[in-house]
Amino acid sequence: MKNKRKKYLFLCIGILGCVLLGIATKSFFHYFYHVKESELYKIETSYRIENQDLGLIENSYEEGSGEYYFLEGLKAYDLGNYVIALENFEKADKSSAKDRALSTYLLYYRNLCMWEQEGVGDVELVEATLKEAQKYVPLANDQDFLWNLISSVSLSAAMDKKAIALIEDFISDEEHLELGTWAWLKNYIAMLEYNNEEYANSIRNFYDVEVRLEDKKLSPEMEYELQYAKEYIANIYVVFENYEKAAILYQEIFDKSLQKKDYDSYACCINMASAYLEIEDSNNARKAIENLEKVFDKIDPTYAPEVEATIFDLYANICIMEGKLEEADSYLKKAEAFYENNQGRAFFGGDIFIVFTRGKLLLAQNNFKEAQSVLEELLKNEDVEYLGLETEIYDVLKEIYQKTNQKDKLIQIYETILEHEEKFITTTQREYLRFSEYYRENFELKTHNMQLYRKNLWSIMALIFISIILILVLVMVRFLSKRNLIDQLTGVYNRKKLNLLLKKYEKKGTPSNIAVAMLDVDYFKRYNDTYGHPAGDVVLQEVSTILKTVVRRKDIVIRYGGEEFLMILEGIKQNDAEQICHNIYDKLKMKEIPHSTSEVSEFVTMSMGLVFQKDKNSKSLEKLIGNADANLYQAKEAGRNQLVVNNN
Ligand code: GH3
Ligand code: MG
Ligand code: MG
Repeated sequence: MKNKRKKYLFLCIGILGCVLLGIATKSFFHYFYHVKESELYKIETSYRIENQDLGLIENSYEEGSGEYYFLEGLKAYDLGNYVIALENFEKADKSSAKDRALSTYLLYYRNLCMWEQEGVGDVELVEATLKEAQKYVPLANDQDFLWNLISSVSLSAAMDKKAIALIEDFISDEEHLELGTWAWLKNYIAMLEYNNEEYANSIRNFYDVEVRLEDKKLSPEMEYELQYAKEYIANIYVVFENYEKAAILYQEIFDKSLQKKDYDSYACCINMASAYLEIEDSNNARKAIENLEKVFDKIDPTYAPEVEATIFDLYANICIMEGKLEEADSYLKKAEAFYENNQGRAFFGGDIFIVFTRGKLLLAQNNFKEAQSVLEELLKNEDVEYLGLETEIYDVLKEIYQKTNQKDKLIQIYETILEHEEKFITTTQREYLRFSEYYRENFELKTHNMQLYRKNLWSIMALIFISIILILVLVMVRFLSKRNLIDQLTGVYNRKKLNLLLKKYEKKGTPSNIAVAMLDVDYFKRYNDTYGHPAGDVVLQEVSTILKTVVRRKDIVIRYGGEEFLMILEGIKQNDAEQICHNIYDKLKMKEIPHSTSEVSEFVTMSMGLVFQKDKNSKSLEKLIGNADANLYQAKEAGRNQLVVNNN
């Protein structure tokens, strides 16, 4: 038992050792192939990120080496000598180099030179750089580096598509990416899509970030990415005019940021209040502004004045909605004062919103003429379209034209509104189609998973099948090993079985109430001589058959030697053991196997020695066999064909 335990212990330690060795080897290779510090990376990042003066750097690399030419190239690049820079990068490309990051940098800077000279990067170079960057983990996760690279080829809607494809390709192999980099790149794609009004794709990518980052322990950078994704998701709801949902999302984002004592999400409150104003819920809009006021003193002082102006503007809007026009006017005047006196701006378009509010207030005051001129003037501002404010202005103008009965203008504005609606509907339709594509992709993914699951099921079944076969094989092996214990001629056990029994009793001790009998055919040598060896074999078989039929199921009969048999009878009374011996005599007698040369009978006879032991462990099996043998000897001495029972 102890040995077995030891075996298992060694096995476990062995397996654990193998696993640890595996992990260690993998990390070792990972380190050497992907992470090992690059000297150039240190130099290049201090130049790129910390704006270190390259003139101060001594080029200590061996002249003619790849690293040497790269640094020379970098210095030329820094000075704006792009032709010289490129020459050096080409030389570096042809020389031998040891630095892990160098091959990536050569591609990266070739692209940047191109960008500087032509105003646009090269998609193929960017693609090659991204592929190369995957071989050096720090660069693959260097957001500043990735941003420079990708933004060089995302300058227009058409180019954005290429940039998106490049990033998607880059993040499809996640082995080299940290979660933070992955989220940042996903948000990057989604932001490009948002800007190009690809809202369905955009929301899908923002959702991916949200799902993957939510409810995890995140670094502040990743927390930022999650917040960013959520805010954009809410913005997309605004685009699709689902203001209720957008307001709820803004509230969630704000609550969460308050928990984390992050007060930068005040913009959420502004958006939330605007969303409530859109659905004419002045109560909730007011609550949103009150939330904002709670964190107002924590807002960055450079932005705070404009945030305050926005608060006044939002209050003015609420008051207009509630018909408190004087109050609205006084709020709006405060907001207007900010833009009159202050040139510093925190967000884009704040001044435009103020003018729009003024227009709305003038309408509420029934000052149609002035309201109309303010709003028509506002429409000429290019930023209005960018802010998506046109439709709202048209709505207000529509009301003015109706009230002042300007039919021509009314028809004109309806046509414009119709045009806008049509455009919006086509966008929505396209987005709907894209979204359904996404769902189809998702569906395909699910089906794929299902297939995988089925495959797994098959593997499990195969495993069960193999296990069953294994069990069968084990049973067979056991059966065969048992057969190994059987004497071929007689079908009773052979000496191997006795050896096993001896070992067993040695461990467990001899049981109580055990009887051991030794049996031997009388004058068997003569029998062989008289009737021949084959006939002798038959006698041995007959005798064995008798022994097997006489004993109980659990008793053991062993062919001890040539014509000697041993019987071990456990859990038996002495009388019953003796009775078994007598039964053997009777059966053998009944067989009447002729033995003309025997001196005791005309038939084959046997002599037997029997011992019985009542108490457990008093004598070993070996000793009992010895005693039984001694009794047999006595039986032979006393003339054969008899049983001697002597327990001493
Ligand atoms: P005793 O009455 O004293 O037991 O005399 P014995 O002749 O039976 O004793 P002995 O030990 O001198 O002879 C045993 C013989 O058994 C010798 C051998 O030829 C025979 N024998 C042993 N194994 C086999 C066997 O497998 N088949 C046959 N046919 N004979 C065997
Ligand atoms: Mg004999
Ligand atoms: Mg013998």
